[in-house]
This record gives sequence, structure tokens and C-alpha cells, in this order.
Amino acid sequence: MRPLGARLPGAAAAVLAAAAAAQAPGEWGIHDMERPVPPVVTPGTASTPETPGKPPSDAAVLFDGKDLSRWRSEKGGPPAWKVENGYMEVVKGAGAIRTEQGFGDAQLHIEWMTAPGATGEGQARSNSGVFFMGRYEVQVLDSHRNRTYADGQAAAVYGQRPPLVNAARPPGEWQAYDIVFEAPRFGAGGELERKARVTVLHNGVLVQHAVELTGPTAHKARPPYEAHAEKLPLSLQDHGDPVRFRNVWVRDLAGVE
Ligand code: MG
Repeated sequence: MRPLGARLPGAAAAVLAAAAAAQAPGEWGIHDMERPVPPVVTPGTASTPETPGKPPSDAAVLFDGKDLSRWRSEKGGPPAWKVENGYMEVVKGAGAIRTEQGFGDAQLHIEWMTAPGATGEGQARSNSGVFFMGRYEVQVLDSHRNRTYADGQAAAVYGQRPPLVNAARPPGEWQAYDIVFEAPRFGAGGELERKARVTVLHNGVLVQHAVELTGPTAHKARPPYEAHAEKLPLSLQDHGDPVRFRNVWVRDLAGVE
């Protein structure tokens, strides 16, 4: 096992890592009262169509509907996406936005809405995407009565794996992704030791289950892994369509095996 504590960024991750270390199988007898109990987290609340829910108490809030202070434009400088009425919206041509902070293993919650009345077809209807580490995309698309290639519909690992089912809601309704992303592991020489893995719930429905990625996601290509940092920003795609996002929070799982 990789040494715990090797890349701990903050208090929450440190607590999680300590908790994980205390729970290693085989190190405790059954029902041992001395075994450390897990840290207490106050759970969040569910969102309604009108109101985003509250994140759990140990989550880092990336967007609470007010501003993009935790985001940067991939073109440099502050992001030029629209913020209004508790959501952010892609502005065509403004470019992708990325978090200021880097993440490796993470639990992400993000809600999104595609525009009612969008007229494009296939990949041209309300396309965006959630990119872990700037490389690994879980697709955002209007997949309600909108045929496209299966590995490019909503909740697909783009170009690699279609979702198990299509759990899309119609345009104009808020949808949610709850994603557990496990970063790839590289050795000291840059060799791939473990592929990235992703688990996705789309509107509460399991659609990707510990799926191993073949490498970075790409259009009409499956490029191989290239070694990169253990933590990198999360980004949201500008594909030219006015997709909205709200209630974005993350739990850093660094150090948790
Ligand atoms: Mg996309």
C-alpha cells in the first residue's frame, strides 16, 4: 500500500486518510471496541428543482451559486462564464473553466441543466463535460430523445464507455452527477501502475461502476496515458452550448485506499 500521508493537502483529507489507515483489514480483531471509529460528518440535504441541497460538512464547495472565485479560465484570468439566479452558464467562446485547486481521488457532486428549445442534434445539443485532471471527461449532453454515438451520450466516459442506462432528464430540468474518480497511479519513472477509475451516478442511478479508463478521453482517438501530477484542476467544458451548472462540491479522497 502506498504510504498514507504522502500527499495530504488539507485537514479533511488527513482525517480521511487516518480513518482509512485505522480500518485496514486484518489489523483488528472482530468487534474490537478499541478500533477507531470513523470521523463524524453531517450529511447534506437533497436538492429540489427550486433549491440546491446542502453539501456534507466535510466537502469543499466549488460553486454555491454566487460567484466563480474558486475557478479560473483555461485561457487565463478570471472565467467569463455567466453567473445568475444561483447557477453558472457556459458562455460560447469563453473557454473551459478550471478549479484553482487540484484534485486527485475525489467525490464530486455537480448539478447541470441543458437548455430547453436547443435545436442542435447529437453532439451539437447542449454539449459540455466534466473533466477530471483536465483529461478524463464524463460527458454532459442533452440525452433526452437525442441520438448520438453511445460512448458520447450523457454520463459516458467520452469515447470509451457508454453509461449502463440512460437516466437523462429532459432539457430545462436540473440533473445531478455524483462521481467517484480515482486518479491513475504512475511510478517514479512515469510508468502506469494503475489506470484511472470512475463510478458515476446520474440522477441517483448507477451508470458507471468502477470503470477503468483506457487513458485520456478524446474525440475519435484513445490516446495512451502520460504521466502527470497527482493532483490537477477539475474543468468544465465550453463546447459552445449554454449549459448551466449549480451546487458543485467535492470531497478530497487523497490517501484513502
Ligand atoms: Mg463534452
